[in-house]
Amino acid sequence: MKIGFLKEGSDTRVSLTPEISNKYNDAGHEIFLETGAGDLSNFYDVSYKEFVKIISRDEVVKKSDVIVSINPIEMTEIDNNFSGKIYVSNFNAVDDNKYINAFENNKTHAFHLGIIPRTSIAQGMDILSSQANLSGYKAVIKAAELLPRMFPMIITAAGSVKPAKVVVLGAGVAGLQAIATAKRLGARVEASDPRSAAREEVLSLGAKFIEVEGATEDTSAGGYAVKQTKEFLEKQKEEVAKRLQSADVVITTAQVLGGKSPILIPKSILDKMKPGSVIIDIASASGGNCEMTEDGKIVTYNNITVVGNSCLSADLAQDASNLFSNNVFNFLNYIIKDNKILNNMEDEIFKQCNITKNIKFK
Ligand code: NAD
Repeated sequence: MKIGFLKEGSDTRVSLTPEISNKYNDAGHEIFLETGAGDLSNFYDVSYKEFVKIISRDEVVKKSDVIVSINPIEMTEIDNNFSGKIYVSNFNAVDDNKYINAFENNKTHAFHLGIIPRTSIAQGMDILSSQANLSGYKAVIKAAELLPRMFPMIITAAGSVKPAKVVVLGAGVAGLQAIATAKRLGARVEASDPRSAAREEVLSLGAKFIEVEGATEDTSAGGYAVKQTKEFLEKQKEEVAKRLQSADVVITTAQVLGGKSPILIPKSILDKMKPGSVIIDIASASGGNCEMTEDGKIVTYNNITVVGNSCLSADLAQDASNLFSNNVFNFLNYIIKDNKILNNMEDEIFKQCNITKNIKFK
């Protein structure tokens, strides 16, 4: 197959890295990369082996049977050059319908990597998990930079320094990595999550679990949390508020599939937090968990720094690109067999990611 990878806009990541390009070559694919696509992650054109053909964006689109980008192309770019081809990206839920219609109209088969089912076979293709892991780590590192205190406890002749207190709200992939990183830096860590499975995971990392009774769970939600009742959220706010008054850092990651993120830190709680404390809100793109969060911005409220950033993995562009690139390879390796597309709507992964279901493969 001819597979082409496009340069992102301002995103520092790239969907094909030199390391992963070897796998495509070994699998017998012909690969094209847009000129300068890896520049922002320090994977310069010269870092790719000669089997990666580095050409202009137009040429990549024209020559490839499969086209890949991390962020969806502009709507205005969808033209006849995409017709009959496969396009793989991570679509923003808000824009999905707009894109589905445009791709179906010009007969492009679009696949959305952000909705890969959470099954063990799909784990290696799961871009949300790979990127969330890095985000959880980077959230703690960012908080440590912004906090006017240090994380570990130390005892010196000039006096002792107490360990920082970190509270993590949402102990999924990003939250657990945040807990592990904060613990490694020597902080005291507490975490909250409505999924009972999260409790054991939090405890196994040496953090405390904030117990709140009455959570709603749904095993058919594929590992995702479901919307919680008003009563639970009120009880949770009360329990969390007690911890936040003495917290130095709060990392928030709480998300509900397909819905707005719950507000877990309203202004009334912020008003009681310590000056100098730092909140890193990873759920900002879906509304955020803190009332003052602004997505993509750092705001200060009552001398508390609130960072709204759902794409912290892009700050670790090399690792983030390598993991993303591997996820894409695993996905394409799964849906392309003997140079043919799997085209099996009975297959859970193929069916779920294929967002242009109204057009048939020839
Ligand atoms: P996510 O990004 O959808 O949500 C982040 C966390 O927020 C979740 O743990 C969720 O329970 C939590 N949350 C929701 N409402 C909350 C509230 N009111 N208060 C506090 N926390 C709240 O989830 P995620 O991190 O992608 O993953 C969640 C689970 O799914 C994890 O256990 C993960 O291991 C599992 N998972 C499995 C696979 C797989 O098997 N292929 C892939 C990815 C994730």
